[in-house]
Amino acid sequence: MKPHNTKRILVTGGAGFLGSHLCDRLVDEDLDVLCLDNFFTGSKENIAHLLNRPNFELIRHDIVQPIFLEVDEIYNLACPASPIHYQHNPVKTVKTSVMGAIHMLGLSKRVNAKILQASTSEIYGDPEVHPQKEGYWGNVNSIGIRSCYDEGKRCAETLFFDYHRQNGVNIRVVRIFNTYGPRMHPNDGRVVSNFIVQALANEDITVYGDGMQTRSFCYVDDMIRGLIKMMNGPDNFTGPVNMGNPDEFTILELAEKVIKKTGSKAKIVFRPLPSDDPMQRQPDISLAKEKLKWKPSVKLDHGLEKTIEYFDKILK
Ligand code: NAD
Ligand code: UDP
Repeated sequence: MKPHNTKRILVTGGAGFLGSHLCDRLVDEDLDVLCLDNFFTGSKENIAHLLNRPNFELIRHDIVQPIFLEVDEIYNLACPASPIHYQHNPVKTVKTSVMGAIHMLGLSKRVNAKILQASTSEIYGDPEVHPQKEGYWGNVNSIGIRSCYDEGKRCAETLFFDYHRQNGVNIRVVRIFNTYGPRMHPNDGRVVSNFIVQALANEDITVYGDGMQTRSFCYVDDMIRGLIKMMNGPDNFTGPVNMGNPDEFTILELAEKVIKKTGSKAKIVFRPLPSDDPMQRQPDISLAKEKLKWKPSVKLDHGLEKTIEYFDKILK
């Protein structure tokens, strides 16, 4: 038998928005890629173009159940990320984050694989510190409608660090801030996809609250480059590390940009702000810059144009 000398990489949630872009990059780097997904929010279309590549494999599986595989590295991305989807079955969201982390960490421990966790800025809740640095412990409601996601992801971070201290598992934890781009689910309710889909259909643009809440939007290509850099970063650098684009915009500014760029006749309408919706969010990325020499390079204007082009094509 031919000796196996190509690294085998497992991407959980590999058929989702970020996961499918990550699979693209890893397949292009000639690594052996195992994409695992239960297709809750991901889709076969996202990875259809990879199915005939010899170094790509697709596994339908739910990480709430254990799985035995032989791999060298794991990117743990499986978890619905948009509020509509993660609130659809909140108990399942907690199970995916917590039991999923236990199963993936158990797998890493057994086969001695390096493992990266897709954590989130939601770890900081509705932050009282601005911009958010990794040392900030957060301001999170443990019993609200966002808690299944926020607390699930916090517990997953705890598990990562306990497996690291107790079992020496080689971990990487990245706190991802709002990321957007092609292959976002058109109906997932996240703000960038919602506004673009509404604008292209000349339907009302739904701004929640007064639109003065802020977010910082990172284009998907920058984020994928960051995740790969973190996986391949120095061995003593576990994170947690923030990754995102520090350019901060109000939601109203985003709505105005989308209307202008699509040339839409859509009008802005105001709707009630969902509970526990964070008022402001901006990553401090000095740690990623220092340790990984990573920073985003795609400006919101350019990223929006690429995303609009994508939605225009798939919605025709
Ligand atoms: P997504 O919903 O497009 O992708 C998640 C993928 O995980 C989907 O393909 C889904 O089918 C799969 N999945 C969900 N539950 C599963 C389970 N139990 N077993 C197997 N697969 C399962 O979301 P995304 O934006 O690509 O997010 C990917 C990861 O990054 C998530 O863990 C998310 O929490 C994290 N993240 C994303 C953002 C962002 O702005 N996109 C921000 C912070 C964190
Ligand atoms: N938002 C909005 N209109 C929409 C969808 C979202 O005004 O149609 C707001 C939402 O209330 C939040 C921000 O946009 O303040 C970002 O929402 P998203 O769901 O994209 O991400 P998250 O709140 O998890 O950062």
